[in-house]
Amino acid sequence: MIAYFVMECAVDSRVPTYSGGLGILAGDTIQSFADLEVPAVGITLLWKNGFTMQKISNDGSQIDSVQEWDIEKYMQPTNIKIKIPIGGKDVTITAYKYLVESTAGDNEIDVYFLTPDVPENDPETRKICDRLYIEGGLTRLKQEIILGIGGYEMLKALNYRPFLYHINESHSALLIASLMKDMEDLNRVKSRVVFTTHTPIPAAFDKFEIKDVKNMLSGYCGEKVFNDIYMEKLEDKDELNLSWLAIKNAKNVVAVSRKHKFVSEHIFEGYKLKYVTNGIHHVKWTSPHHKMLFTKYIKGWEEDPDLLRGVSCIPDGDFVEAHILCKETLIETINSETDSSFIASDFTIGMAKRITHYKRNNLILANPDKLMDIAERKGNIQIVFAGKTHPADTDGLAMIKSIHDTAKYISSKTKKVKIAFLENYNIHKANIILSGVDLWLNNPTRPLEASGTSGMKASLNGVPNFSVLDGWWLEACLEGINGWGIGPRPAWTDLSYSDDIQDLNDIYGKLEFNILDLYYKNYSDYIKIMKMAASSIAPHFNTHRMVSEYVTDLYLTGIIMCYLEKEKGGVCDL
Ligand SMILES: *Cc1c(COP(=O)(O)O)cnc(C)c1O
Repeated sequence: MIAYFVMECAVDSRVPTYSGGLGILAGDTIQSFADLEVPAVGITLLWKNGFTMQKISNDGSQIDSVQEWDIEKYMQPTNIKIKIPIGGKDVTITAYKYLVESTAGDNEIDVYFLTPDVPENDPETRKICDRLYIEGGLTRLKQEIILGIGGYEMLKALNYRPFLYHINESHSALLIASLMKDMEDLNRVKSRVVFTTHTPIPAAFDKFEIKDVKNMLSGYCGEKVFNDIYMEKLEDKDELNLSWLAIKNAKNVVAVSRKHKFVSEHIFEGYKLKYVTNGIHHVKWTSPHHKMLFTKYIKGWEEDPDLLRGVSCIPDGDFVEAHILCKETLIETINSETDSSFIASDFTIGMAKRITHYKRNNLILANPDKLMDIAERKGNIQIVFAGKTHPADTDGLAMIKSIHDTAKYISSKTKKVKIAFLENYNIHKANIILSGVDLWLNNPTRPLEASGTSGMKASLNGVPNFSVLDGWWLEACLEGINGWGIGPRPAWTDLSYSDDIQDLNDIYGKLEFNILDLYYKNYSDYIKIMKMAASSIAPHFNTHRMVSEYVTDLYLTGIIMCYLEKEKGGVCDL
C-alpha cells in the first residue's frame, strides 16, 4: 500500500479543497491509481472554507470570500479520533473519507481528509484548517503537523500499514519524524519515503524556526528524532526547511519534468533527481463533445489513453464540429457572465490559471495598441482570462486590475479586440474555457514552470498550446506542428530567465505572421495542428503514463522491500 500525502486534493469539482495545479494533479493521480488498480490511500486536509471565492468589483479589485460547502454531502465521517500533542496541547483530529471510484466503476481508492474541527478542541484549534494557504507562520506549521504527523498516526489508527510514504510537495515532510520515532533506523526510514518536488522557487519552500518545531512537537517526539533526521546535516541550524527535510530523508526524489530535474539539481546541490513528467487524467479532462467523438472513432480510449494517437484518423468535419460545440458553450458563458459580446466565429485565446507574478498572466496586454494593430491587419482577436490570486499577493491583485483597466481601454478604442475576465476560476470553468478556445496561451517566466498541466488539457481537446518553452512543453512542443513555442528553446541545463520583451515580441510576432493567418485564411491547416495537438500529446501527457512511471521508478523497490519484510515476519500491506 502506498500512502499518498498532499496538502490540497481536488477529488470533485463541487468540493473546493484545492487552489491550483498541485491539488488538481493529486486528484487526477488518485483517479489513475483507481483505474490502474495501484494499491494506494490518499491523505490530505479538510479545507472547510476552501481557498478563496473570487468576485471582481467594478474597478477591477478582487473581492475575496470563503467557500462554504456541505462536507457530509460528499464525504463520510470515520468517527475515528486520534490525539496529537501540538505545542503542549492535545489536539484531537478526525478524518472524513472520500471514495474515488475508478472510471469503469470496478475499483475505489480511499482518500482521508483530516480536520481538527471537533468539539474536543478549543475554538482556536478547531479553525486551524479552515482555509487553504491563507495563513502562514505557526498556523501553517500546525497544519503541516496535522497533515504529516496526524496523517501518519491516522493511517495507523485506521489499520493501514503502508510500505511507502509518498510526499507530494514538502508540506507533509514531517511524517519523516513519525517514521523515525517508530523505526529508530535512518536507513529503514529512507527506504519507506519517496518525494516529488513541485516548485523550482526556493523562496516558496516552507521553512520554520527549529525552536518552534521542537516546541510544537516536544510532547510527541524527543530531540533525538530531530537530530537523527535533520539537525546534524543542517547548514542553517536555526531553520527547518521542509523541502530539504524531504530530500535528505527520501530514498527516491523526482522532479515533475525533465527541465525541472536540472533546475532542482541546481537548488538541491549534491543530490541526483529522477523525473516523471506530470500528466492529466484524460477522461476527466475530455469535454462531453470530445468524449462522444472519441468513443465513436477510438474504441477503448478510456482504458488506454495511448490509443488517442488515433485522433489523427478522425474526419476533419466531425473533429471541427466537436470544437464548435465547445466554443459555443464558452461564448454563451462569457456573454452571459460579462458584457464583452464575444462572437463565435472570431479567433479566441484562453489564458486561465492561478494569477501570480511568475505566470505573467497579463503579458499579452503589455502593448494594447500593438495588439489592436495586429487585429486590424489580420482579423479579430478575443481573449478570455480567468484566475484567482492569493488575497495577499499584491502583484497578483495588480495584474487583475491591469487586465481590467486594459480591457476598458481597448473597448473604448475598437471592437476588433475583445477582452473578458471570468470570475472564480475552478475545475468547472477550466473545462469550459480550455476546450472552447482556439488557442491556449501560457507564458510563465522560464525556468519557473516546474511542469504545468493546463496546456495538456487544452491539447487533449484539440486546442493548440502557445507556450514558453519550459516544463512539460519543452518535451512536447513540435513547432508549428502541434502548437507553438514562445521565446528561445533553452538547453536542458540552461537556467537563465526569460526576457519579458523578447517573449512579448515573440507572442505578437507569431500571432501576426503564423497563427492568425492560418486561422482566418487557411483553416484546414489550422485543423491539422489541432488534431496533431491531441494525437501527439494526449497519448503521453496523461496520469496513466505518469502513474505507470511512478510504479516502476519510485514504488517498485518499496514493493520488493515489503516482500522481504513480510518474509521475515514483519508487518506491511501490499
Ligand atoms: C489545470 C488547472 C490548473 C493548473 O494550470 P497551470 O496552467 O498548469 O498552472 C489550475 N487550476 C485549475 C482549475 C486547473 O484545472
